[in-house]
Amino acid sequence: MDRFEENFDKVWQKVEKARIETNEHSIVKIVAVSKYVGKEEIKALYDIGQRAFGENRVQDLKDKSSALEDLPLEWHFIGRLQKNKINHLIDLPVSLIQSCNGFELAKEIDKRAAVKGKKLDILLQINSSGEPTKAGVSPQSAIDTYEQIANECKNLTLKGVMSIGAHTDNEKEIIKSFETTYKIYEKLKPKGAQICSMGMSGDFELAIKCGSNMLRLGSILFNSH
Ligand SMILES: *Cc1c(COP(=O)(O)O)cnc(C)c1O
Repeated sequence: MDRFEENFDKVWQKVEKARIETNEHSIVKIVAVSKYVGKEEIKALYDIGQRAFGENRVQDLKDKSSALEDLPLEWHFIGRLQKNKINHLIDLPVSLIQSCNGFELAKEIDKRAAVKGKKLDILLQINSSGEPTKAGVSPQSAIDTYEQIANECKNLTLKGVMSIGAHTDNEKEIIKSFETTYKIYEKLKPKGAQICSMGMSGDFELAIKCGSNMLRLGSILFNSH
């Protein structure tokens, strides 16, 4: 069997197991984080049914999306977005900017989207573990920021929240960070939030158990063991 197919199958089974144990009616979407690989690997995953791919650098998203423009792929931006790269990103076929880390950045994206006559879907990134190296709004200010963006950024549509789990081996700490994000997501549901993006290769099963409905999986999909 193709190495990706075997990998993907194993991951898929783990996702399904955690999903069914948590809530068999839930839907969990996988975004394949392709930042470690090139177009050949993306194409291989596409051939076995994967459609959504995530990149954390604007230039990589540009190169790979144009190299694969014949395929109906869905591109997610998940990295730190520098202001001077916003215009480049907006020109690309990006279906969701997951890493909007505050009102200031949202306002900048909105301004440039207005000039270009574009509408963009975004997630608000929450720094639920409170680690200083992580981007995102604090849990305390997340709801206010979400509302402020929704009210003032007319060219953006907020679809929900994104978060990276606590960086530790301590499962309780990881769970706590996911629960913090999920509680905020629940409060935002009446305001239209539909996506709770959390869970990476090392912690996706915990994330699913805490209510995630979008995983961002990189190394576990693309490294063959
Ligand atoms: C790289 C990255 C991922 C995927 O990480 P893996 O541990 O390889 O699954 C997910 N989210 C973000 C924001 C990333 O930068």
